[in-house]
Amino acid sequence: SPSHSSVIIIGAGISGISAGKVLAENGIEDMLILEASDRIGGRIRKENFGGVSVELGAGWVAGVGGKEPNPVWELASQSGLRTCFSDYSNARYNIYDRSGKIFPSGVAADSYKKAVDSAIEKLRSLEANLDSEVTEQPRSPKTPIELAIDFILHDFEMAEVEPISTYVDFGEREFLVADDRGYEHLLYKMAEDFLFTSEGKILDNRLKLNKVVRELQHSRNGVVVKTEDGCVYEANYVILSASIGVLQSDLISFRPPLPRWKTEAIEKCDVMIYTKIFLKFPCQFWPCGPGKEFFIYAHERRGYYTFWQHMENAYPGSNILVVTLTNGESKRVEAQSDEETLEEAMGVLRDMFGPNIPNATDIIVPRWWNNRFQRGSYSNYPIISDNQDVHYIKAPVGRIFFTGEHTSERFSGYVHGGYLAGIDTSKSLLEEMRKQKERKSESQTFL
Ligand code: FAD
Repeated sequence: SPSHSSVIIIGAGISGISAGKVLAENGIEDMLILEASDRIGGRIRKENFGGVSVELGAGWVAGVGGKEPNPVWELASQSGLRTCFSDYSNARYNIYDRSGKIFPSGVAADSYKKAVDSAIEKLRSLEANLDSEVTEQPRSPKTPIELAIDFILHDFEMAEVEPISTYVDFGEREFLVADDRGYEHLLYKMAEDFLFTSEGKILDNRLKLNKVVRELQHSRNGVVVKTEDGCVYEANYVILSASIGVLQSDLISFRPPLPRWKTEAIEKCDVMIYTKIFLKFPCQFWPCGPGKEFFIYAHERRGYYTFWQHMENAYPGSNILVVTLTNGESKRVEAQSDEETLEEAMGVLRDMFGPNIPNATDIIVPRWWNNRFQRGSYSNYPIISDNQDVHYIKAPVGRIFFTGEHTSERFSGYVHGGYLAGIDTSKSLLEEMRKQKERKSESQTFL
């Protein structure tokens, strides 16, 4: 007969692990964690590349130095995670055109200010819902520098335009994780508290890897979970931490199907694709030193290898560059070979730094979009939203509870969002279990 647990947690990313820890701390020991891939961490994932550890998923502890402590920054400090401060503020003064000239700082600052002002204006008119009134539409970006700045502003630095809870609550600083053990070390530290581990390996058989959940059959009495390899598990409750992209896909079917209010909210949520391409070189040919960590390439095509970072601050002498693509450009490079991507990136670098620079000797192109256990990088709720969608996305359906970064009202899209969501969902479930117990004992008194 199928194994039976109080709670099955689906997914061992940061939200699944933090949910498990809270359950264990509250006496729920008979849980099962089913993870589709062969490792814990989910969108927190390091890879050894060119002699150092690079983060293919989350790279920064975002939101540090403010009035409230960021809980993930606290975890990082407690476990001695090595990090490195990132100063983005100079990126706009390192904008290259296609002939390798850097735009004069006055021109760059001016374009930046115009872009911020016009984004704020757009937002205001959206907020005021002025569609009936004839307002002058801000001119859309057209020149390479305008397109580059538009990309940086909207795909990276929305905080310049609109207050974002992460930076308001936790502070504006960001620290890049640069640790051999990876960002995922935080998850292993958390797992150690409630799963049996030895020498950094989780050996507890309540964590099952390579278990792809395909079906959730749920009723008033419990949930039956079926995995791709034909296993069946039963539980009183399920906590589902699969990403919003996975929920939008047909990987997991629900019997009975999820209600309309749920599926409609899930469909409405945008998924952002964010791709960090790492390139290793035999030597360094880009400027280093203060204010040079980030640089920008201005091209006629928006988002075409726009945003660059060198890794010399994190790992001196590593000779690694990172270029970030998003959405359409991410999908495009995911679909082509890494050799083609390397060639495109080299073309861009030759525009900026001249024809004589050496070729990259190695490349990594993460494929978050094509990964059927991810289907994108993170949720992206519209700026103007009344939070109703996130409530629906988070709300339990019968005995299935939802968690993950996308269920965090204030911090969706971030590691701390996932972490806090896991805690929050477990607390709601514990509350529900307590009520259930009460109802049971009440009905017994009546009998
Ligand atoms: P996940 O980590 O996705 O965990 C869900 C788990 O469920 C996965 O392990 C998955 O394999 C598993 N799963 C899915 N389907 C099934 C199934 N059917 N059966 C069983 N298991 C399943 N955040 C920051 O704070 N700072 C950053 O700098 C940052 N940069 C990012 C860059 C990239 C490229 C990406 C991808 C993300 C970035 N984020 C960043 C966001 C951050 O990584 C996420 O918000 C967070 O890790 C999400 O955690 P989670 O537990 O919600 O989801």
